[in-house]
This record gives sequence, C-alpha cells and structure tokens, in this order.
Amino acid sequence: MLAAVVKILATRRYPGPAFDQLEDVEVAPLSSLESPRDDVEGLIVANEPVPLELLQVVPARPQVWSVVPRPLDAVDMPLSWGNIYAVCPNCCARAPLGQRVPSMPCTRCGGEFEIAWSLDHYLA
Ligand SMILES: [Zn+2]
Repeated sequence: MLAAVVKILATRRYPGPAFDQLEDVEVAPLSSLESPRDDVEGLIVANEPVPLELLQVVPARPQVWSVVPRPLDAVDMPLSWGNIYAVCPNCCARAPLGQRVPSMPCTRCGGEFEIAWSLDHYLA
C-alpha cells in the first residue's frame, strides 16, 4: 500500500476556512523535521526560525499567484483578506483571495495568472 504524498507541511493550523481549502497539507511541529523530506514541497511557518539545512531555495520565480498565509503580526493588510492572500508572480503585488477560482488578474500589472492552490504549479 502506497502512502499519500504530502505536498505542504504547516507547523500549525491557521484559523478560518481558507486554510482548510489548501490541498495536501500535513500539520506537524517544526521540531519534528530533522532533515528535508522528499515528500514535502512547501513549508508554511509563521514566526519561527527555520534552519537553512531544511530548505531548498529555488532561484526561479513562480509563474502563478503564490498563496501565502497572513503574517501573525500583519498591520498593513485589511482584515477582510482573511488568513491567506496571493502574491503576483510578475510584480509581487498582494491581493485578497475570494472564491477558489483557477486564475485572476493583477490590478497593478494587469497580468492574468493561475493561482497556486497547490504547489503542483511549481513543478511544471
Ligand atoms: Zn502583478
């Protein structure tokens, strides 16, 4: 029997329905990671230092909207955006996420990009 593939590891659950909409998320404390895991492609961490040996830094920019958890100490982001927001792959503008649509336009640069609801987009 094959185990399910874990795409994202989060060090905690984030409140609200938006976090529940992310696919393939395992919640485990950062201290449970002793080395990089081949089955984890993304790590969601808030206000915790991450040892560099656990990370693989990818030099290429994404081609899709990145879905990012709201920082716990965010002060310049409307509360109406909820617990996650998107970052434009072209101009790095931040935007709220509404319905789970496959793509959306950027109001700053005008580009239309898919939304990385899962990290599969980074593997293309
Ligand atoms: Zn943009």
